[in-house]
Amino acid sequence: MYEGIVQDLIDELGKLPGIGPKSAQRIAFHLLDADDSSVRRLAEVLIKVKDTVRFCEVCGNVSAEDECRICSDPRRTEEIICVVEESKDIIAIEKIREFKGRYHVLGGAIDPIGGVGPNDLRITQLMSRLGSGRPPRSSSRWTRTSRARPPPPTCHGCWRPSSSRSPASPPGCRWAGTSTTPTR
Ligand SMILES: [Zn+2]
Repeated sequence: MYEGIVQDLIDELGKLPGIGPKSAQRIAFHLLDADDSSVRRLAEVLIKVKDTVRFCEVCGNVSAEDECRICSDPRRTEEIICVVEESKDIIAIEKIREFKGRYHVLGGAIDPIGGVGPNDLRITQLMSRLGSGRPPRSSSRWTRTSRARPPPPTCHGCWRPSSSRSPASPPGCRWAGTSTTPTR
């Protein structure tokens, strides 16, 4: 245990995901040894990101505007919505450069042990989007694309907007063959 503000720094760093006590201590002492200018820059960026970055009103992705660049891109189809846990999952899928639909960020996953239920996620907003979307072009609500790729680990499947609320399992995602998508 260290004194005062140094221990406070270690404690705060230790609250970050993936940072254990030893890593927190190592980062804290790295910061103490670093140039004043670089530490101030880090502090300024942390404050600025909290002040300026918000969440897209449509999909929940991090965004500097009311709508993120994906939701405001008219070239992307509104007929397929890829549901993901976090914004970082969008980055992983976008790197593949093949998905041309939209996204919906749930903001986490259902975790009964951790006390996270459906009401803690952006499921109501998802159902609202599905209900207001254009109707599917065929009787099949889900469309499988031809080329399979390894799934992002948190991909929850791709939905065609539909007014139907049938709980059928969605095979619509091109990654659905190996996805961990729960049955809905
Ligand atoms: Zn968006």
